[in-house]
Amino acid sequence: MSSDVTALYPAGRLRVVADAVRKAGLGALLLTPGPDLRYVTGYDAKQLERLTCLAIPAEGDPFLVVPLLELPAAQASPAGGLGVEMLTWGETTDPFGMVKDRLGPVESVGLSDRMWALNVFRFRDAFPRTEQVLASAVLSRLRMRKSAAEVHALREAGAAIDRVHARVPEWLKPGLTERAVGARIAEAILAEGHAQVDFVIVGSGPNAASPHHEVSDRVLLDGDVVVVDIGGTMPSGYCSDCTRTYAIGTPPAEFVTYYEVLHQAQQAACEAARPGVSAESVDYAAREIIAAAGYGEWFVHRTGHGIGLESHEDPYIVAGNGTKLEPGMAFSVEPGIYPGPHGARIEDIVVCTETGYERLNNAARELVIV
Ligand code: ZN
Ligand code: ZN
Ligand code: ZN
Repeated sequence: MSSDVTALYPAGRLRVVADAVRKAGLGALLLTPGPDLRYVTGYDAKQLERLTCLAIPAEGDPFLVVPLLELPAAQASPAGGLGVEMLTWGETTDPFGMVKDRLGPVESVGLSDRMWALNVFRFRDAFPRTEQVLASAVLSRLRMRKSAAEVHALREAGAAIDRVHARVPEWLKPGLTERAVGARIAEAILAEGHAQVDFVIVGSGPNAASPHHEVSDRVLLDGDVVVVDIGGTMPSGYCSDCTRTYAIGTPPAEFVTYYEVLHQAQQAACEAARPGVSAESVDYAAREIIAAAGYGEWFVHRTGHGIGLESHEDPYIVAGNGTKLEPGMAFSVEPGIYPGPHGARIEDIVVCTETGYERLNNAARELVIV
């Protein structure tokens, strides 16, 4: 069953957000196109130089300022069913002045984290005495705890990327370039139900030791280890992200040794996830196993990141993040070991449940030899 838009983007969310704005002591949130606007309304508006802005005041009704030529798209989006007043502007109107006049005086506004600086500065000019803060001060707490419908959408995304990984072994042939393999993976990401390819990492041989390598013209060789980290955005708006490490033929003996350490560390970190434990303790669960085996210096990144409407969002699974996990929080568990001239990473998306965790990626984690 595919995700139901009204369950994913419920009409009552606007009220919940307005309550949170009031409790945070802010005057209003001003949301331009991006994941915050989509979270609140379901409207997947494009960032453009013409201002589209949803204002959610602490008191009073929300309203959407929208360029006249974008009105049909806004009305056709889920936002059209929310009963939010849409105020259009033509090419010669000042939309920042419209927001200001309608909102009235406010002491502080929360601006969406991904708002362009262009708009931040124009809002500052329109409201010179109003304090600007990040909208995440209000929205992060809400967005972190996924509803059942959001978890369902992430589960669909996980299943879709698992189907792509199931096909990866057939493309990892000596003689093909990383780029050629990456092109087939990108096609499959769309064919398996994503609306958009977000990233394709095919790190072969020494490139496996570079965690954010994408693709290159390097030709795959027998004996290579290949890190394949891929993700996309589903029509629902929710993202996938999954890494598996493959070996073409017989991998180096030292690789096999640390891959098993990594496998155990990834498992331990998943098992550490449950309500009430801190994000950093999940990181620690993976890191202590890798360090105890002597590979600590080669685990050069945090264990994971939250995921939802953005492929990287709160909560980050990293030392120093004391955020306590709650049911509905979704994040990656992706430790890696990169000693060179090869490396490995295993990544699943995990959701904190009422009693523990649920993995949303279920492709085998044992080393796949192709
Ligand atoms: Zn990353
Ligand atoms: Zn990834
Ligand atoms: Zn990731």
